[in-house]
Amino acid sequence: MIVTELHEARARLTDEILNALSVVMFTGAGLSTEAGIPDFRSPGSLWTVHKPIPFEAFRASPAARVEAWRRKFAMDDSYAGARPTIGHAVIAELARTGRVGAVITQNIDGLHQASGVPEHKLIELHGNGTYASCLDCGLRHELAEVRPRFEASGEAPACRACGGPVKSATISFGQAMPEREMRRAAKAALECDLFVAAGSSLVVHPAAGFPSAARNAGARLVIVNREPTPLDHEADLVLRCEIGPLFSVLSAGGTS
Ligand code: NAD
Ligand code: ZN
Repeated sequence: MIVTELHEARARLTDEILNALSVVMFTGAGLSTEAGIPDFRSPGSLWTVHKPIPFEAFRASPAARVEAWRRKFAMDDSYAGARPTIGHAVIAELARTGRVGAVITQNIDGLHQASGVPEHKLIELHGNGTYASCLDCGLRHELAEVRPRFEASGEAPACRACGGPVKSATISFGQAMPEREMRRAAKAALECDLFVAAGSSLVVHPAAGFPSAARNAGARLVIVNREPTPLDHEADLVLRCEIGPLFSVLSAGGTS
């Protein structure tokens, strides 16, 4: 069933959450557009102005690494100050009060952490762009220390421990998915009784496989997105609405 009217969508989403024992929230870039971070598809979005730098090119070429870091900091500047939305706040509240057992996100903006989703409930499938790590030894590097060095030297940052290439802690095209997160996400999808996909076009794989996996394992599948997705026909309920106005009905303890 597809619902486009906000009041009906709010009532149905509330019912779904109240009737579920264990909810998984699966989020995409659409959750953060209200924070001012464009999703992947917006025309002119910095995500799409440049052809992405594949992982192998980053590893192999110092010039590609310099270009990747230049773009990374330009993007950070244009989205600086982005704060969690009402959607993030509601999801965090449901996770803290126990109704939501796991938050699986494709987002790399760190806004789920900023809104207070407990760490053990958060699964970041595509990494996190708010810090960096060494590709060789895995050591974490803070952007506040990487950036001045990069800007002063014009050279791609190297690991202070082993000299290996330092990269934003996100998963690039061509880079292996993080094994632990994939395992945690698969487990959460198989164990929940309600899987809510919110703000994702559901075309980026393997992440987009989790909604179907949950449904095939017996969960109800609810898709919240302003545009149609290729999985709408599999969903028990499609809420074709703006996330903020829809999710705000779940705030203030109404479902805890
Ligand atoms: P996507 O851009 O492919 O899809 C986002 C969907 O959200 C679109 O279908 C759009 O119609 C919908 N949408 C946007 N704003 C909405 C709103 N306010 N209410 C309801 N629907 C809304 O994003 P994706 O499926 O997450 O895949 C994009 C990939 O790019 C991901 O892998 C992600 O890692 C990366 N990305 C991340 C961010 C971020 O971290 N904020 C932003 C852009 C891209
Ligand atoms: Zn290292």
